Amino acid sequence: MNLDELIQKVEAARLKRSEHLIVQIVAVTKYTQNIEPLKRLYKEGQRAFGENRVQDMEKKVNALSNIPIEWHFIGNLQKNKINKLLNLDVFMIQSVNSYELAEAIDKRAKKPIRCLLEINSSKEPTKHGLPIEEAVETYLKIKENLKNVNLQGIMTIGAHSENENEIRKSFKLTYKIFEQLKPYGAKICSMGMSGDFEIAIEEGSNMIRIGSALINSYM
Ligand SMILES: *Cc1c(COP(=O)(O)O)cnc(C)c1O
Repeated sequence: MNLDELIQKVEAARLKRSEHLIVQIVAVTKYTQNIEPLKRLYKEGQRAFGENRVQDMEKKVNALSNIPIEWHFIGNLQKNKINKLLNLDVFMIQSVNSYELAEAIDKRAKKPIRCLLEINSSKEPTKHGLPIEEAVETYLKIKENLKNVNLQGIMTIGAHSENENEIRKSFKLTYKIFEQLKPYGAKICSMGMSGDFEIAIEEGSNMIRIGSALINSYM
């Protein structure tokens, strides 16, 4: 699927939910070390790119420093990599998955950095992210105490399942948390990947992270 085809699908899913819903696309480029696919996507208008490893991101950020890309970090962040990531001056860290990690980012950051709180909405033990029950409380605690962590909303990975209802359920639960946080300034509900972005949008997602379905057309 190329970017135009993706946009058409996003458009159809968005209109099922609401004509007022605007959905941002983050192109996840972790499957390639080559920067040509990123350049091609940029030429077609894509501006937001996501990576899940600090090392890989560093290489791409440096190789593409001449074009104004909006970089999103989406992977599990080890504390010993925080400084390296902050030095890349990324646009957003989508994968803040504990209060402890937020604290570590806050301590090391020299200025506020946009972040999303990652939620484990499918309750799968292999997944990172806050348990649903702790999400609102932790979000508010970070907002209150950690001035360099500029929370913009939440992120989740949908249930790993063949069953559409299971996937939808994890997105519904995440959207409920998002609604509770809107009065506190939450603006982004990042959910939906190649296999489930249409369901995510139908459930209110306003940011999708698309890797395999998109990047294969540009390699
Ligand atoms: C890899 C990844 C994606 C993109 O996944 P695809 O299924 O390839 O679209 C989105 N979000 C996160 C957190 C990822 O690690």
